[in-house]
Amino acid sequence: MSGGSIVRTGTGFSLHRVHLHDSWVDGDASRHDAEGFGLYDLTVENDRITRIVPSGAASEGAQNDLRRRVVMPAFVDCHTHLDKGHIWPRQPNPDGSFPGALEAVGADRAANWSAEDIEARMEFALKCAYAYGTKAIRTHLDSLPPQETISWPVFEAMRERWAGRIDLQAACLFGIDTGRDEAWFKTLVDRVRNAGGVLGAVTFMVPDLDELLDMVFRAAIENQLQLDFHADETDALEAVSLRKIAEAAKRHGYEDRILIGHCCSLARQPDDEVLRTLDAVADCNISVVSLPMCNMYLQDRRSDGTTPRWRGVTLLHEMKARGINVCVASDNTRDPFYAYGDLDMVEVYRMATRTIQFDHPVADWPKSVFANPARAMGLDENYGRLAEGGPADFVICEGRSWTEVLSRPESGRIVVRDGAVIDRALPAYDELDHLME
Ligand SMILES: [Zn+2]
Repeated sequence: MSGGSIVRTGTGFSLHRVHLHDSWVDGDASRHDAEGFGLYDLTVENDRITRIVPSGAASEGAQNDLRRRVVMPAFVDCHTHLDKGHIWPRQPNPDGSFPGALEAVGADRAANWSAEDIEARMEFALKCAYAYGTKAIRTHLDSLPPQETISWPVFEAMRERWAGRIDLQAACLFGIDTGRDEAWFKTLVDRVRNAGGVLGAVTFMVPDLDELLDMVFRAAIENQLQLDFHADETDALEAVSLRKIAEAAKRHGYEDRILIGHCCSLARQPDDEVLRTLDAVADCNISVVSLPMCNMYLQDRRSDGTTPRWRGVTLLHEMKARGINVCVASDNTRDPFYAYGDLDMVEVYRMATRTIQFDHPVADWPKSVFANPARAMGLDENYGRLAEGGPADFVICEGRSWTEVLSRPESGRIVVRDGAVIDRALPAYDELDHLME
């Protein structure tokens, strides 16, 4: 093996001495090192992994001896906003605050979000995600009227265009109070169902939150839709919509998948309140996704020139301890909710490790960007793991251990999809310049 190439023999290749982690391979974990890595030889035929065996003496110095480089499954990014992405040059956040983000995005949406505009920015974002090694993405789509009539057809076309490279899902996004217009809400539900989408909303502590949640759950049950909420993206102690959603799920006997993002306020609440909420959540089919990059950017932003004092992320350790399915994801990229980002799940996992302390021990935290989001999105067991008989979709890192993988940008990683090394060239920023005038 030299540079970015893998020596092939016939219809496949073998990689020798790769480091696989016990959170993504069914190996003998007792053979693995203290960080959870074991040395394996991995064989690919056509587009499948045909063999994963512990490395032996003959592996050393063999063709494609990767000398302990980490090989990860392709990533699953379960919470993004492809429709908002990359508008920063024409619509920055004036002060880095959450209200500033809402207002800025609202103005840009009204002024600029034509089908052509959204399509070009989505295409750009998907090229980036693909080049970094991501295989499945769920995006939220701002669905306030009339935007839903523009964005959903674009999403459906993009899902088709990207099939086989990135599996795309979409969830509608609207302030739950907008659902008081029941006639409009019904048209949105029809649109989401017809597009094979997920029913989503942003919850706020409005006085009629329970009634509005009842309406959403009834629609989900009648139309057999999965649910995806933005909840409690605030430091306000009184924000308990995570618990309200869990209570509504219970009330309606809803057993399909629910994914809930953010839940920032939970980290600010007293222990008895937290325990009450976690009890309710653990009792439902709820997955939680934390968005460490966006939350660090927006939460505890102060206008008085003082320094932020909390991290903005939710209580993933406590949730995981209770068996709740926990994930981390990209969220926004280069838009008023987050000025940076490029849909690189290595960056997301690195930030999560620092912010949420996914270490000491690492344990199975890597599942938060692999098998866990796959489960939250209802993808099959081939996603987020490496197994004999599974697809040959994986990322060959430069690093050989967690400290090496997470200390550099991994810009020399090799991405293999369907058994072949892909072109990892990122699109140039100037591809979007014509939209930024
Ligand atoms: Zn979001």
